[in-house]
Amino acid sequence: MIPIHSVTMAKPQKLSDQYPHQEIDLINSHEHRPDKPEEACGVFGIYAPEEDVAKMTYFGLYALQHRGQESAGIATFEDAKVHLHKDMGLVSQVFNESILARLPGNLAIGHTRYSTTGSSRKDNAQPAVVETRLGSLALAHNGNLVNTVQLRSELVRNQVSLITTTDSEMIALAIAQAINAGADWVEGASSAFHRCQGAFSLVIGTPVGVMGARDPNGIRPLVIGTLPGLPVRYVLASETCGLDIIGAEYLRDVEPGELVWITESGLASYHWSQKPARKLCIFEMIYFARPDSIMHNESLYTYRMRLGRQIAAESAVDADIVFGVPDSGIPAAIGFSQASGIPYAEGLIKNRYVGRTFIQPTQSMRESGIRMKLNPLKDVLVGKRVIIVDDSIVRGTTSRKLVKALREAGASEVHMRISSPPVTHPCFYGIDTDSQDQLIAATKSVSEIAEQLGVDTLAYLSWEGMLEATQEDTSSFCSACFTGDYPVAIPEQVKRSKLMLETVVV
Ligand code: SF4
Repeated sequence: MIPIHSVTMAKPQKLSDQYPHQEIDLINSHEHRPDKPEEACGVFGIYAPEEDVAKMTYFGLYALQHRGQESAGIATFEDAKVHLHKDMGLVSQVFNESILARLPGNLAIGHTRYSTTGSSRKDNAQPAVVETRLGSLALAHNGNLVNTVQLRSELVRNQVSLITTTDSEMIALAIAQAINAGADWVEGASSAFHRCQGAFSLVIGTPVGVMGARDPNGIRPLVIGTLPGLPVRYVLASETCGLDIIGAEYLRDVEPGELVWITESGLASYHWSQKPARKLCIFEMIYFARPDSIMHNESLYTYRMRLGRQIAAESAVDADIVFGVPDSGIPAAIGFSQASGIPYAEGLIKNRYVGRTFIQPTQSMRESGIRMKLNPLKDVLVGKRVIIVDDSIVRGTTSRKLVKALREAGASEVHMRISSPPVTHPCFYGIDTDSQDQLIAATKSVSEIAEQLGVDTLAYLSWEGMLEATQEDTSSFCSACFTGDYPVAIPEQVKRSKLMLETVVV
């Protein structure tokens, strides 16, 4: 058997690196974390020998930047030769013209990452590249596996050495293992996918083509686009906004349990899972994905406006103005305004140039609240009864500061409306929602949360209202962070890492 190894030039890691939940770094410490669920990753793939594939991947990742801001990477294939560049930082910080010029090829895959498995460091940036008997394989993954402990020990038992701490590398190594045992690219990938449980939307680069695949539940999105011109060339992206930016046209979604194989011959489809289901993460629709991305034949902006109309119908309140928490609360606030007749106004202005910074604010700045990012508009707020609409509350720390700032700016009443139900359970499928004991709605009633936030009234959207507003089959979504009803069983060992409350009850 051909030995499998990663081409990443990292030293073997110490044991603690292999158990990422034990690591706490600055970005993952609660004090510095944004009070929102964090998206896992964005993936992109392109097969187009006549194009500058590295540059197109750069722009695809640029459009998917909201899905992960810690690291970015691109791998191109120039026939059998793989070129890889990845580093910590935003897409625009990791790449420049001269780096992109050093990434020639017929095809490329790219990744932008937020670390949900494995700590935030350069070795764990993707794509993960491994060697096989058929040549190099580069893999970019969005989602989280829930059976990594089992998969890791199987791989280690078979003398496969792991370089990074990510579940994504384990998928790449499982594929390589199958290929080295005699399988071709598609067979090797299919057989490895059967060993993986959890959420995975993947793009995989090889010397001959690009693969795209989704787990049997299709928890994370993945779409296919085509480039104008002949022959037809295909693009893969986490969201349609990654297609729009390079002028590709949306063709269709990669189906749950499907593998698409894009080569010089075009696109071939394989249904590798015998039991596909539809369990798209509802949080993608509520908050994570960009509002201009299309899901279920409409923009998420339209869906989010409908959420606002729904909560206006469910939890009306008399007020002078309504506005959203920029940017993600705005479509729902507009919908709320349309349904209630209460005028929409801008009560908060966002500093659009505050990205993720590694420089932490001073203590006094931190105490002064949220104004680095959002600044209340006093002229609009003074003496007004306001309704503020947000997409979700996780820990409640930012919401409390926000309410305080609105009152200081002169609002006479503050009513909060949330366009999703209370988040009571953590996510194990690639979204970082904290452990259960950090989720405010896991331990407090709505009236207790209202008191803690300092609002006059607080209402969440109902679970039924959230699902009905999709105008799709309501069983075709994962909504486990609102219900605890996980579509893929979570092993006890993994559960214990985040389900604090349930562990106590047991
Ligand atoms: S648990 Fe919540 S965040 Fe995670 S996949 Fe399901 S709906 Fe999405």
